[in-house]
Amino acid sequence: MNHHFQGIGMTSQRTRDRLVERLRREGIQNQQVLEVIRTTPRHMFIDEALAHRAYEDTALPIGHGQTISQPYIVARMTEIILENGIPGKVLEVGTGSGYQSAVLSRLVPKVYTVERINALLMKARRVHRSLKLMNIYSRLSNGSWGWPDKAPYPAIMVTAAPEHVPESLLAQLSVGGRMVIPVGSISGAQTLRLITRTPTGFEQQTLNGVHFVPLLDGSIR
Ligand code: SAH
Repeated sequence: MNHHFQGIGMTSQRTRDRLVERLRREGIQNQQVLEVIRTTPRHMFIDEALAHRAYEDTALPIGHGQTISQPYIVARMTEIILENGIPGKVLEVGTGSGYQSAVLSRLVPKVYTVERINALLMKARRVHRSLKLMNIYSRLSNGSWGWPDKAPYPAIMVTAAPEHVPESLLAQLSVGGRMVIPVGSISGAQTLRLITRTPTGFEQQTLNGVHFVPLLDGSIR
């Protein structure tokens, strides 16, 4: 078999269809989200050695101690963000592999994403470019500070877990805006929270238990 066809079984449309069937069974209902997951090549966001596992419903290592999120979590967080209609833009904290931002970019006009590890950011940008996803804007920084220049955001998605919700992110949410964020310690339990900004303050809903890498300080060149 020549090189080009190696791995075709693991990255084929059939394995993606199977993943989407599984997500549907597990309760993902948004058809647009399922369709985007079905047609986004997750294997391109993972090192070749692990690409054959790209369509399993599992988190996978992407280097630097970080992981690409589990497809179910990507689908669920995306679905939550879209629940009240399509926001004009989204801020994602924790670009990582760039997979979540790629999924968002096909559903939302503009995606702003912030990563603290430069090597991951460069890789993610390369994949976004090769997929011609032109509506993703990314920068290297500590995402706990958000991306103030582009604020306010009708939607914020945080893909690493702080112990407490960062004040700056709350401040950058527009009134009526929604933030999904895992909160908790690495060792202890984390829960996914949905925070909505009201004209007078914030409402918080606790969703399911989750397991994310920690939201860390600073950034690494
Ligand atoms: N959304 C990513 C998930 C990556 S894991 C994906 O689809 O692959 C979480 C990412 O958050 C890691 O890459 C980690 O480096 C990054 N991260 C952790 N703390 C951060 C911070 N304070 N600011 C920005 N990114 C952060």
